[in-house]
Order: sequence, then C-alpha cells, then structure tokens
Amino acid sequence: MLLKNFFIGLSQNQLLNSLAQKYGFKLGAQSVVAGTNIEEMIESVKELNTYGISCTIDNLGEFVYEKEEATKAKKQILDVIEAIKVNNVDAHISLKPTQLGLDIDYDFCLSNLQEIVAKADSYDIFINFDMEDYGHLQPSFDLIDELSKEHDNIGTVIQAYFFRAEEDIQKYKDYRLRLVKGAYKESEAVAYQDKRVIDSNLVALIEYHLLNGKFTSIATHDHNIINHVKRFVAENNISKEKFEFQMLYGFRKELQHELAKEGYNFCTYVPFGTDWYGYFMRRLAERPQNLNLIAKQVFNKKTNTMIGIGVGAFLLGRLSKRNKK
Ligand SMILES: Cc1cc2nc3c(=O)[nH]c(=O)nc-3n(C[C@H](O)[C@H](O)[C@H](O)COP(=O)(O)OP(=O)(O)OC[C@H]3O[C@@H](n4cnc5c(N)ncnc54)[C@H](O)[C@@H]3O)c2cc1C
Repeated sequence: MLLKNFFIGLSQNQLLNSLAQKYGFKLGAQSVVAGTNIEEMIESVKELNTYGISCTIDNLGEFVYEKEEATKAKKQILDVIEAIKVNNVDAHISLKPTQLGLDIDYDFCLSNLQEIVAKADSYDIFINFDMEDYGHLQPSFDLIDELSKEHDNIGTVIQAYFFRAEEDIQKYKDYRLRLVKGAYKESEAVAYQDKRVIDSNLVALIEYHLLNGKFTSIATHDHNIINHVKRFVAENNISKEKFEFQMLYGFRKELQHELAKEGYNFCTYVPFGTDWYGYFMRRLAERPQNLNLIAKQVFNKKTNTMIGIGVGAFLLGRLSKRNKK
C-alpha cells in the first residue's frame, strides 16, 4: 500500500511530469507508449491490426488547467480521428474529460467534446470516455448524458472499486462499457480497498453486463479474470461478438496475441505523445514490477536522479504531514 501511495503521489507531481516530457523517450518510454506523434502511433496501430488486434487511441495529457492546452488537445484528437479515417485503420478514441478542460470550465469542456464526438460520429468512430478519479466521476457522467442526447457513438468505463459501480452499470447498461478494477487512490468513504473484494466486484460487473448490457470491454491483465470470462461466456452461450478483451500497449504482449489468435475480439489501449509520466506512474502503482518494462533503459544517471527527487519529495511530504498532526 505504501508503494502504491508512493507512485500515485509521483503521478501527481508536475515538476517530474515536465522533466519526463523532456527526457522520457530517451529513458525508454517507447516500450509502453506507441510513439510521440500521430505518424508513429498510426504505424504501431497498423502493426497491431495485422495481428487482428483493434486499438483504442489515447492522446496522452495530464495537468490541463489552461484553455490553450485543452484547445490544443482537442485539435490533436480531431487530427487523430482524421488519421484513423484516412489510414482506414481498425481503431477508436479513448479520451479523458480533464484533458479537454473539465477542471477549467464545464461548458468549455462540453463544447470541446461536442466537436470531437460529432466529427467521430460522422466517420462512425467510437469515443470512449476514460474514467478518472472520484472527483471527476459524476461530472464525466453528466457530460456523457448531455452528449448522448445527440450521439450514440459514446461509451465509458465502470471502475469496480467504487461502491456506486453496481448502480452505474445498471444505469448505463445500454452503453458499450469498459470494465476495470480502477487505477486511482480513492478513499474508504467511496471505494473498496481490499483487492479481493475489488476483483470479485469486477467479475460480478462483467457477468452482469455480458448478460444484460451492450458490448463489453473486459480491460484487465489478470489471467484469473480472463480465464473466468472464457468459462462464463462458454457456459452461457454468449457470442464472441458481444465482448472483447482489452490490455494496455506493451503489457503482456504474448497473452494479447494469444487471445486474438484464439478468436476473441481484442483491443489494445494505445497511448501516444510525450506526456507519458502520470500514465506510467499509475501503472507502477498497480504493479511495481512494471518497472521491468522500461528498466533496461531506465536505470541510468538521469532516471536515478528523477526517482531520487521523487522519493525525497514523497518522504518529506509524509514527514511534514506527520509533523502537522
Ligand atoms: C485497456 C485498459 C483501460 C483502462 N482504463 C482505465 C480507466 O479508464 N480508468 C481507470 O481507473 N483505470 C483504467 N484501467 C486500469 C485498471 O483500472 C487497473 O488499474 C489496471 O488494469 C490493473 O489491474 P488489472 O486488472 O490489470 O490487474 P492487477 O490487479 O494489476 O493484476 C492482477 C494479477 O494479474 C497478473 N498481472 C497483471 N499485470 C501483469 C503483467 N504486466 N505481467 C504479468 N502478469 C500480470 C499478476 O498475476 C497480478 O497479480 C485500464 C486498464 C486497461 C487494461
């Protein structure tokens, strides 16, 4: 738990975020991020498509508190939609409302999203609203409700650690949903903390949506849950057309290929851009061994310094909190 808090703490550090943007790709981020620009990302998508793997593309971006940045992100996502169409690749979009200005102004964010969703709709491209931390949960659902009045190419994510997940999945059962455990640090007031409880809640949500809902994206690297789903769909005669497995780019590659080869729909979450830091720190919070993915390139002087600064900042933060109590 301490390690998880440590990496979640690092994921929110803006100084380290900007350092990572500067040096990231020299440090080996390319094993978990599919390129720094649209051209490189499209090449990665084309390669995955050759294995029968579909993609959901995430234009990385965090800490957006200025309108100019949100507008830049919107333009970039519109360009990605155009690139999907022009290159005729099997892909759709994943986006985070905060990147489009949710922390700046709700209506500004809504109008950015309206433009994106409308363009994607005109090309028959699906848009997934990634779910962030609890504070952004209800506003994100509100945006979805508003946009759904005119468009049906929208879906979202249900995070199994939230107490309200069961209620949300019932309300949004007619949407294409991605089901996950949940990646952020959440309080005991709103979320389960015990991993076994979260795992079994995820299984219950998956079963519910497979039986009652629209298309289900089962997004996990957990082979126990994947094996359970394989058994469950076979026992309940659920068609392979009704669901897919999803994993993150660069994670458990062999398993990704294996599932696609077995004839399951498979979709890889493809992040690209230079703003990879917060994304990767959350992956370390989930599983510190994920450091192995970039370890070869990572352990040089520069990263040791970055991690050192992070550890120092974290420990100082904890000490000063303790002193304040
Ligand atoms: C495609 C995708 C989209 C996501 N979108 C969101 C989102 O919008 N919002 C959100 O909050 N979260 C999102 N997440 C993150 C998610 O909530 C979890 O935090 C994350 O997936 C870790 O949980 P897990 O289910 O993969 O398995 P874990 O609980 O991390 O792992 C369970 C077990 O699986 C095995 N395992 C896991 N990873 C590996 C590995 N790399 N190699 C070998 N074995 C491994 C290990 O045995 C491990 O003990 C997303 C995840 C994916 C895959």
